[in-house]
Amino acid sequence: MRQKLMVANWKMHGNLATNKQLLEAYIEKLSPLNYLQVVVCVPYPYLAQAQSMLQNTNIAWGAQNISKDAVGAFTGEVSAAMLKDFGASYVVIGHSERATAYCESDENIATKFMQAQTHGLIPILCVGETLIEREAGVMQMVVAKQLDTIINLYGAAVFANAVISYEPIWAIGTGLAASAEQAQSMHEFIRGRIAKLDQAAAASLKILYGGSVNPQNAVQLLVMQDIDGGLIGKCSLNAQEFEGICRAAA
Ligand code: PEP
Repeated sequence: MRQKLMVANWKMHGNLATNKQLLEAYIEKLSPLNYLQVVVCVPYPYLAQAQSMLQNTNIAWGAQNISKDAVGAFTGEVSAAMLKDFGASYVVIGHSERATAYCESDENIATKFMQAQTHGLIPILCVGETLIEREAGVMQMVVAKQLDTIINLYGAAVFANAVISYEPIWAIGTGLAASAEQAQSMHEFIRGRIAKLDQAAAASLKILYGGSVNPQNAVQLLVMQDIDGGLIGKCSLNAQEFEGICRAAA
């Protein structure tokens, strides 16, 4: 049985003072929930704060992006090794907000995925389709292409120690979550595609759902067989709402 994983994606929110309050509330409310793993992905400048407040708790921390390169003259970039310096254990890769705004290709995302793994970080790979693609019925094709870029470059075994987050773009930040059936169907498809190549990797792979998860819809989603947790944006900025979602994982 895969332990549920709940990832808070703070995006570009917070400051030292509000983060302190939020992390204190996370520690108080989420530490007792020992049936799941909680991770908070903070903006880069707050990694040191996350490290100092979360070390010796059962809440892990990470970042929302990394460079595709290991080191060098890449102004403004942050490497996987730098995240490790701050005790990070996870990193979000290929979030659609970045992929759209900064034109990240599937190949770029695949390289970042491997950078993360090479440096001992667990990549949380975001995949998902636009509304137009869903309405055209090609959502599985779109997600398959995103997965296949990594599989063709590195093989399916790399998913054994990874996390995939299915994030339909039309559901992110819109208040319109996928139904449990829509999400389960895509999660089953993702696991099945990897299982055809590597059964063990597929069985251990955690597949999260992300997109307007809230305390009200969390139970319906998390009860589904192939939904192993969530990537939570807006509701993770409110400790009480995030706690409600995490408790739904029980
Ligand atoms: C996200 O940040 O990936 C996300 C799913 O955001 P929200 O929960 O706000 O839809």
